[in-house]
Amino acid sequence: MKKIVIILSSIIVIIFIVLLVFLFNTNSNDKDIEEKKENIIEEKNTKEKANEFSKYSYYKEENLNRYESYKANNPELSIEDIITRVNLCLDKEVYTDTVPSTNLNTNYLLVNKFNYLDRNYIPNNLELLDNSYAKSGIYLVKEAKDNLERLISDAKNAGMNIRVISAYRSYSYQENLYNNYVKNDGVENADTYSARPGYSEHQTGLVVDVTRAFDDFNNFENTNEYTWMLENAHNYGFILRYPKDKENITTYSFEAWHYRYVGIELAKKIKASNLTFDEYYVRYLESDNN
Ligand SMILES: [Zn+2]
Repeated sequence: MKKIVIILSSIIVIIFIVLLVFLFNTNSNDKDIEEKKENIIEEKNTKEKANEFSKYSYYKEENLNRYESYKANNPELSIEDIITRVNLCLDKEVYTDTVPSTNLNTNYLLVNKFNYLDRNYIPNNLELLDNSYAKSGIYLVKEAKDNLERLISDAKNAGMNIRVISAYRSYSYQENLYNNYVKNDGVENADTYSARPGYSEHQTGLVVDVTRAFDDFNNFENTNEYTWMLENAHNYGFILRYPKDKENITTYSFEAWHYRYVGIELAKKIKASNLTFDEYYVRYLESDNN
């Protein structure tokens, strides 16, 4: 009899334990399922948010959080502008998180305050400009030079007298220039009008600064030569690189005298798009080549 009681109570205890284990398991299974559901909802939310940006070909998934905060800070901007500006790093301080420029020795090489050229970068095919239309001793990449010569000669036939005062600048030339500005004016002021070495577009060999012959370049904006350049430069492959009212994108003040060679076809497209070279690069050139 005693034995039977012991066996029975043992069985009851075992059943009780099995029940407990079973209950506990279902509970934790339920928890697992709920967690999984939550994860799926979260994933769906992220994807839906991404979609607002991701339908653009130049969308970069790794920038999603930055697009969102840029949008929150600039609600008036279109989604296209938000993606473009974040891809240009305009949500960051200039000269921070900088990367070496790619597409070296091409007409669409991008150099700005976030994309720099190496100290040793010297463009191929530099040629000396003729001092009949340029200050002596300055160089430009051959293709740009050939088109510049056509431009200057056609402008002359239209009664315009255009002269080149600066073109290719080496890294060390820019280094001296910038360091002198800093010495006289401090870093903060120097940064507003001079590029740091490596960050000057002049190092590409695809840039000219022009004036009306023997006039102050600061006056170029007020000349017929400037109006002629605005209307015609793209037909020779040149674009106004730092236009008026685009300072927040180019990070440079308006420079009526600074023209960048990109090739005729591209110059026409950029002119028609009304975008700066930086914006055009992010939207149509960078993604094509990556
Ligand atoms: Zn310039």
